[in-house]
Amino acid sequence: VSLLDAVVACAAAWEDDGPVGVALPGVYDRRADRVLLLPNVPGDWSQLAVRGEIAARTGRTVVMCNDARAFAQAELCRGAAAGVSDALFVVLGTGVGGAVLSGGRLCLGWQDRAGEIGHICVDPSGPACGCGARGCLETYIGAAGLVARTREALAVAGRAEPAGVPTTELSAPAILRAAESGDPVASAVVTAAIAAFARGLGAAVGVTAPETVVLGGGLAAGLTPWLDGFAATVQAYARLAAIPTVVLARHGRYAGAIGAALWAERPPV
Ligand SMILES: [Zn+2]
Repeated sequence: VSLLDAVVACAAAWEDDGPVGVALPGVYDRRADRVLLLPNVPGDWSQLAVRGEIAARTGRTVVMCNDARAFAQAELCRGAAAGVSDALFVVLGTGVGGAVLSGGRLCLGWQDRAGEIGHICVDPSGPACGCGARGCLETYIGAAGLVARTREALAVAGRAEPAGVPTTELSAPAILRAAESGDPVASAVVTAAIAAFARGLGAAVGVTAPETVVLGGGLAAGLTPWLDGFAATVQAYARLAAIPTVVLARHGRYAGAIGAALWAERPPV
């Protein structure tokens, strides 16, 4: 797998013999040392011993973690959640990752599977998700989901492309820009995505009662024009929780990598 070669080369280029932290956008079984689920990465990863393979090829200790939980670890350290004891973290990328901080501790759950906010069901008859379920939050607000929903809406509207966006360049940032400039199809898709996001996040807020919600990933900054009143809408689905403060992440695109390094240095559990 060429991605593994890149990780090995990256570790080898670093003149240091400390542990290597690897953040995986999926589920890794640490006991069996195998990938269990990697929904948004091309290739056959099932059962691959990523940790063992990188460790054997680099001669270094390798520590695996989930990418969204690594993101949270980074934002806890001099980031948007520094000093916060109860928070939710949402990483809006190709898919949607998540993490839960409760009482100052990251909740990893049984087999490190806790925090999957992106796979909260917001519509049982909704679109098929990469995880195998239907109507997951990430099928609306993830980058891949936004593109897919826009293609569907364009087909229904009998249009080939949103204003100013060639179909070949239909990407989530382009859709957000088209929506902001008033394209009706793009606006409707983004409005529906934000509504689905509020509903799904509201479920997580109701269960965990966070003080702060940290939004990160490539899509987060582009969503800010739609986030006026968002926290109150989220809380409308979680009336027993206080309205959380919604903030953007501070560590940018390397938050996952920074968090993986912090994780390798000192795992949170
Ligand atoms: Zn899903």
